Amino acid sequence: MDNALVAEDLSRSYGDTTALDGVSLAVVRGEVFALIGPNGAGKTTLVRALTGTTTPDSGTVSVFGSPPDAVDENRIALLPQAFSPPERLTGRELLEYYAGLYDHSRPVEDVLSEIGMAADAEGWYETLSGGQQRRICVGSALVNDPDLLFLDEPTTGIDPAGRRDLRDLIADLADGGTTVFLTTHDMAEAEALADRVGLLADGRLVEVGSPEALVADHGGESRLVVETDAGTDAFADSGYRVSATSRTLTIHGIRPEKIGEAVAALERAGIEYESLSWTQPSLEDVYLELAGERGAEEPVLAGGAR
Ligand code: ADP
Repeated sequence: MDNALVAEDLSRSYGDTTALDGVSLAVVRGEVFALIGPNGAGKTTLVRALTGTTTPDSGTVSVFGSPPDAVDENRIALLPQAFSPPERLTGRELLEYYAGLYDHSRPVEDVLSEIGMAADAEGWYETLSGGQQRRICVGSALVNDPDLLFLDEPTTGIDPAGRRDLRDLIADLADGGTTVFLTTHDMAEAEALADRVGLLADGRLVEVGSPEALVADHGGESRLVVETDAGTDAFADSGYRVSATSRTLTIHGIRPEKIGEAVAALERAGIEYESLSWTQPSLEDVYLELAGERGAEEPVLAGGAR
């Protein structure tokens, strides 16, 4: 397998805090790899170790076969989480500025087209929408035509339309052959974009796999969530596996073709409800399961198997 990036047994502590605790991973060329995990899990520290902006206490990183600080600067780019360029420059001026920092950079016009900002390149950065600003930021990371692009929470704080635009841009970059390593708190984003997802918790890589494999292994069952305060008692003899919170009754393990039957059973039991929603397990469920972040209201199961 042709790897863009290999990390072996990385550890990094800050005083008594262990930010990374023996992380090993490999990212294949052309892959989109999404790193997810709770705040404080060590994501930023891992990105910094992989890009050579921090030195791990132990372990090794290899980017295109070299230590990260020895890699040709044109092959790797990082868009950090907190990146705020000067506001009183136009998008074009900003990209020209960043392009000027490299010995070899791409024509700014090409980058503007690639990020879909050619028509809005003359507006001051401060006048652009959040999504457009972030696209310019991504563009500033593309001026050196990197083969490996690190994006630390690229869509945080952007409205849904801007997020969608940016996702399309990242998908296009990946289609063009760029290897993308991104961190995100947005599970839908990881699910939509990533070939593989890694879940980091307490400095350890808990699980790595394709979104589909992670959901199949850890996402649980599809279920029907009924908005009602009826509790499990009224439905306890139904034969369904149910759980309840103060506001919902959840019927577990309901396949799509069985939704009608379950609704009929609710009505037979005289349960009144505000709404019904059927959900398939998603990466969000995997995250909640593996990161140990299931809510305090996580219900106790009641009822028999069906
Ligand atoms: P994440 O990006 O997943 O939120 P970080 O890598 O920022 O996690 O942090 C992991 C842990 O290391 C946290 O407990 C954080 O407080 C600590 N940490 C990170 N950077 C520093 C630093 N420069 N000095 C001290 N502690 C740090």
